Amino acid sequence: MIRGRLRRTAAERRRFRPGLAGLLGFAAVLAGCAAGVPDPPPPDKGLLAGDCAASTLPEPVRPAVAGDESFPANYEESRARFRADCGMLEAKGEAVCRQYPLAVKGDPDLTIDTAYAARAGNRNLLVLQSGLHGVEAFAGAAVQRRIMADRLETILDRGFDVLFIHAVNPYGFKYLRRVDACNIDLNRNFSADGSIYTMPNPPYERLRSLTEDPDPVKSVTLDSLDANIRTLAFVLGGMGSTAFSQGTHGGQYVNPPGFEFGGKRAEPQSDFLRSLLTPLIAAHAGRIYFLDLHTGLGPAGKLSVFSGRDWKEDKNPGGKPLSYYELARFVDTVKEPTIIATSARGSAFETFGDVIDFVPRLAPDGAVVAMTLEWGTLGDSVTAKLVSNTRMMLEHRAHFHGCRTDEVCQEVKRNFIDLFDPADARFRRQVPIQAWTLIDALTRTTPDFRIPQ
Ligand SMILES: [Zn+2]
Repeated sequence: MIRGRLRRTAAERRRFRPGLAGLLGFAAVLAGCAAGVPDPPPPDKGLLAGDCAASTLPEPVRPAVAGDESFPANYEESRARFRADCGMLEAKGEAVCRQYPLAVKGDPDLTIDTAYAARAGNRNLLVLQSGLHGVEAFAGAAVQRRIMADRLETILDRGFDVLFIHAVNPYGFKYLRRVDACNIDLNRNFSADGSIYTMPNPPYERLRSLTEDPDPVKSVTLDSLDANIRTLAFVLGGMGSTAFSQGTHGGQYVNPPGFEFGGKRAEPQSDFLRSLLTPLIAAHAGRIYFLDLHTGLGPAGKLSVFSGRDWKEDKNPGGKPLSYYELARFVDTVKEPTIIATSARGSAFETFGDVIDFVPRLAPDGAVVAMTLEWGTLGDSVTAKLVSNTRMMLEHRAHFHGCRTDEVCQEVKRNFIDLFDPADARFRRQVPIQAWTLIDALTRTTPDFRIPQ
């Protein structure tokens, strides 16, 4: 049974905070690198703090599969490869590599790693971020590895500097959870003004008997069947699928150990991204693309591309977000049937606190185009959605309330991992290819993503 300690004392928080100044200083160094020559690295210590602890840590279990070797076996291997790949570039003066410790009690060895490749005169910036939903980091890390190894020169030649952010939720990657050590879904946690942390989610309240089932998992088969039946009873019993999805995946800000908790305040990743990206954005006067890499949702085998919510409606004076129409037009030009545009606004339910709604606000002139890249695994049929949802709820339940036996918990975890990192050689071959197809188009063509005033 795993329980995170969900609050820290003010004294503890102060103790972990001093590194932020260093982070800001480093961001300034990075901005300087846009001129071409990396500066000497600042000390990499105490830059970032987690807010919670894991008292007991789950056993990482991931089935081995023959497939694309770009997919790492685990967090440690992925990080070591990322550092080695970046280190080779750094030795040639072509990149700057950094490590930001994320203090989580019980594990002193979690870091967010970055690689920044820049060339003098480049006006554009491409950011590739992986692992916001920790367990989804395998595909993201594979994409980063392949781009760094095979495509970096091409992208730099096209006038784009590139920032790779590896495992922005290292706890979730290492311990194979989507959430961070505080049970927070980081992609429900980003808020420019903090308004989301008091946002109600009425359908969630109606679903707590299902999503917060306090019983240990006794049998994966029987408990899955039970969860499926109860889900259908809610959906067909008057709630409807839209409200059900809103309740289970829209994010809730009420119960920290609950399902899809979005947090009570900004997690360290908000400060991290703000400090890291703001000067880089300011140093690039051309096009800026922020791509956040995910897996698990959407049609099987396809890469769904989401733009953020249209935050012009929030009356941001500089707001010029990418509209669904523009995104769809761009994806159409890619001419790859396995890559599809998806409208966040057109989906049946809304989410808040998404990183792709947060990052564009770091540029007052709306210069940043942020997208989620999501690789579908089980698919988007009614059955696939039911199975996906049940696997996630069981994982959450096993984490907080344990299982009848260790074997049951292992099976829960295997099913959960399979949802986000399927042991499927074809999937693993396709992911880096689809990513490059999209990035190739993004950096080669010059689509006008900006909405005229
Ligand atoms: Zn995700």
